[in-house]
Amino acid sequence: MIDTVFFDLDNTIFDFNKAEHIALAKTLEELGIPPSEETCARYSVINLAQWKLLEKGVITRREVKLRRFRLLFEELGSDASPEQAAATYESYLGIGHYFMEGAEELLQSLYGHYRLYLATNGTAAVQKSRLSSADLERYFDGIFISEEIGFNKPDVRYFESCFARIPGFSRESSVIVGDSLSSDIQGGAGAGLRTIWFNPAGVPLSEASGGENIMPDREIRRLSELPQLLVEM
Ligand SMILES: [Mg+2]
Repeated sequence: MIDTVFFDLDNTIFDFNKAEHIALAKTLEELGIPPSEETCARYSVINLAQWKLLEKGVITRREVKLRRFRLLFEELGSDASPEQAAATYESYLGIGHYFMEGAEELLQSLYGHYRLYLATNGTAAVQKSRLSSADLERYFDGIFISEEIGFNKPDVRYFESCFARIPGFSRESSVIVGDSLSSDIQGGAGAGLRTIWFNPAGVPLSEASGGENIMPDREIRRLSELPQLLVEM
């Protein structure tokens, strides 16, 4: 029986793609760069690649924040400051929050029936600001932000640090729900958790895993499927 649920935050509870797009457009505008669809799409590709490098331990969080803008500005031939862009972007990102469809209803329905924890790779200042602006802390028994933990998902040390902070924790009765195969599912499984892959776009597993052997225990397309699934698990 499941009694403890870890939730990823971005693109699982919060619609990060939307928040990112709005914060990015405002930042570029402020720096005098037209936030065209093409430019925003390039940023997304570059940004994702930097986060993958962070997951692999190749670069630091600070480098992610600067490199994504530096690489974008290089491509655009812009002499805008990556440092200024990073600071502006984070301040905008901290203001906005947008829920994934059904996320608030989901948390309301699980609250009181399960111990709920947030497990996120975000930046502490940004995530805390977004959580409090969305009034979300009240649902969670604990919020584990990788910057504060000192390790990032999928590092097993991240998960072990989380487990150590949970009284009476048991892997057998715990599950992680997240949209990322590499950080949530592979990381969770590596730490001994059961895993539920949130796959709203219905991307085939073989495609989403990029050839890596990652096998979630369960998969959902909508958050509204989760309450029943947790009972069955
Ligand atoms: Mg995510």
